[in-house]
Amino acid sequence: MISPFKCPGSFGSGTPAIKIKICPQCGGEVELFSIDMKVDCPSCGQPVFNNINSCAEYCQYAEQCLGTDIYSKLKK
Ligand SMILES: [Zn+2]
Repeated sequence: MISPFKCPGSFGSGTPAIKIKICPQCGGEVELFSIDMKVDCPSCGQPVFNNINSCAEYCQYAEQCLGTDIYSKLKK
């Protein structure tokens, strides 16, 4: 029996990890937690997205896991 809310992807570990992403606009480093969907770049304000949209691509439970609102934005 698989819990419908147990995501094996980005949210599976339970412990938020800090990740460094590179801003696509200014090339600066942007710190975000693994549970963050989006962080605005501190240098230029460009929204930098975490790669949880890949989760929405393959996970059949992404809609419940992320919420319908976020899910529909990611799938757009
Ligand atoms: Zn930037």
